[in-house]
Amino acid sequence: MLVVQIALPLPLPRLFDYLLPPDVPQLVPGARTQVSFGNRTMIGIAVNILENSKLPLTQLKKIEKVIDDQSLFSPVLWHILHWAANYYHFPIGEVLSHALPVLLRQGKPTRINTMRKWIISDAGRKVTMESLKYAPKQQKALATILKQPLYYNQISKHNITHATLKSLRTKGLCDLYEEASTIIDWRNNFKIKGKRLDLNKDQEFAVQAINKERNSYVAWLLAGITGSGKTEVYLRVLEKILACGKQALVLVPEISLTPQTIKYFRERFKAPIDILHSSLKNSERLSVWLRARNGESAIVIGTRSAIFTPLTRLGAIIIDEEHDTSYKQQEGWRYQARDLAVFRAHQENIPIILGSATPALETLHNVYNGKYRQLSLIKRIGNAKPTLHKTINIKGQQLKSGLAPILLKKIKQHLQNDNQVLIFLNRRGFSPALICHECGWVAECKLCDSYYTLHQYNHQLRCHHCNSKQTIPNQCFNCKSTHIIPVGVGTEQLEQYLHILFPNISISRIDRDNIKSQCTLEKYFLNIHRGGAHILIGTQMLAKGHHFPNVTLVSLLNVDNALFSADFRTTERFAQLYIQVAGRTGRAGKQGEVLLQTYHPEHPLLKKLMHFGYFSFAKQALLERQLVQLPPWTNHAIFHAEDIDNCQAETFLTQLRSMLEINPNKDKKTWLMGPIPSLTPKKNGRWRWQLLIQHPSRQHLQLLIKCSLLFIYTLPITRKIKWLIDIDPIES
Ligand code: ADP
Ligand code: ZN
Ligand code: ZN
Repeated sequence: MLVVQIALPLPLPRLFDYLLPPDVPQLVPGARTQVSFGNRTMIGIAVNILENSKLPLTQLKKIEKVIDDQSLFSPVLWHILHWAANYYHFPIGEVLSHALPVLLRQGKPTRINTMRKWIISDAGRKVTMESLKYAPKQQKALATILKQPLYYNQISKHNITHATLKSLRTKGLCDLYEEASTIIDWRNNFKIKGKRLDLNKDQEFAVQAINKERNSYVAWLLAGITGSGKTEVYLRVLEKILACGKQALVLVPEISLTPQTIKYFRERFKAPIDILHSSLKNSERLSVWLRARNGESAIVIGTRSAIFTPLTRLGAIIIDEEHDTSYKQQEGWRYQARDLAVFRAHQENIPIILGSATPALETLHNVYNGKYRQLSLIKRIGNAKPTLHKTINIKGQQLKSGLAPILLKKIKQHLQNDNQVLIFLNRRGFSPALICHECGWVAECKLCDSYYTLHQYNHQLRCHHCNSKQTIPNQCFNCKSTHIIPVGVGTEQLEQYLHILFPNISISRIDRDNIKSQCTLEKYFLNIHRGGAHILIGTQMLAKGHHFPNVTLVSLLNVDNALFSADFRTTERFAQLYIQVAGRTGRAGKQGEVLLQTYHPEHPLLKKLMHFGYFSFAKQALLERQLVQLPPWTNHAIFHAEDIDNCQAETFLTQLRSMLEINPNKDKKTWLMGPIPSLTPKKNGRWRWQLLIQHPSRQHLQLLIKCSLLFIYTLPITRKIKWLIDIDPIES
């Protein structure tokens, strides 16, 4: 009997040996099997098929069932996933399972979507309508399917229920028929539709450069300022790719924020486009997976995890807003989809386009060291006037609900000219703290040791770390005073205040409290576009993707903490956010103005950013990181550990550090920092600690992590805590 090494979705970095009974069909690596593990039945993926096992064969269980007769993974994806499991030190079983749609993880068949339809049986054809006169519903249903078969999802249109049809089936009068849907080849009918824009010089140059090398791997950075027409470049490049019958994969940060981009794709190509969004049912997800694999979809658009979509004739990958942090998974398997995408493009030997107005410093570093090639779009479409950037020094100023008098004056001016004004404030709720005026007590979430945010509209205190809620206290918990006051400004308060100041102006507040669904968001955006709202207040949600042609003033409040954070990446995030928010203004040939309220107008990075733009800022920031040897000049991995008693997690990391200190692989270039409390030291009742390992060589860092993991699995304390490893972390 052969031995099969199977990857099971378990948090253990190993494969499990099973026997392949001679009577089961042939098994190939990449196919699913059903096995028993402990007292459970699990679905695992065959990885190696061997003649023998290191374990005595008598100890091995037999495979219960072979589910697939072929691999579920293309050779390239198979290679990438194995590489990734090794690189991110995440169990291969979990990695392979993660890359599959949920229904496949559960062992469901990879059948091509069948269409189910109700059809009339021979008996049904012969029976008289008269015989069903006491069952009028059945009579009607029979009459309908006598005329034509009814597809499963269409019956409600005819006012017929499945129950009625099932009753007919019991009488042998009809049947449910499964029709294998035929694979539709879009290539014969592929066309370019809609209005093709005349490219400007920069766009033309970019499209030609990419097209010229569209048959092999090149990583292109399309660095185009907001409104410079990146989407048109994507569309033109894809025209050629699709015309050759190849498919494309497009990654976006968040589907709900990119309806415009999707619309452009749909309008341009007469070819099937599949969208992988979070509200898809599991069956729909499987269907997209199958369509992609069969070559039936021309383009698949999705977020981070869409990188695992098995497109058979993949011809290009596009990553829009490549700097966006959502491409990094922050739970469980912490992969960076952008890096995996570049690796995939390389393995598939196809071009990849990373588009952004504010590329990640890692990406720019790769441009400067020759790994990626940059194309730039430096002009805004149809708008010659560059935006004006100014700071408002708020030192010693009387702010009203967070607004300086001079800013208020500006807002009035822009509104009087019938323009729209956008105010960015990255803080939901009414106030970020509730404080006792007598004794200074602050309402705090016990689970997270952090301040509660006051949400006046819901009469609640909410913790933005763990989402716990509480009613607003009438009295101070400490001194019983009833004089408790909100401190600081959130979007809810800002909205209230502006309503009082401008009673006749319509205001849209775009944040997670106000906008709960994609549908509401679209309604709000439509209303803004129609000029329904003149003041737009918003958090991050308003900063991404959307263009507002009539916004002429953008102001940013309360962003100073970004300049002085303990996390060295915060300035980069701030610069990206600033440019993205600023990019919402001045699109329709109108002069745009950006005002930044700050206590630190002299901050050097801020000045660089405002006067010389993102790329000067980025060069400076990269230089600074080089001086102190921080990523991307070196490599980081962080071990995170957490516990509920604030003792074991730190001890665990201390033991890990002690081992590393005496490990022969630790050399002069190895730098260890920690254990230290995480930036959010307590969350949801758990204390969080971390240990950082830095090394300029990726290989060497990998070696140190391998040693660490071997050690961790032998430590008794490991079982008492929760731990994980984050390779190339994007936050501390
Ligand atoms: P971004 O670079 O910010 O993604 P978009 O691709 O959204 O910019 O383009 C901004 C606007 O300019 C869109 O309305 C788009 O239709 C328009 N546009 C892009 N290219 C051209 C062009 N060559 N001629 C005219 N309009 C264009
Ligand atoms: Zn008090
Ligand atoms: Zn909390």
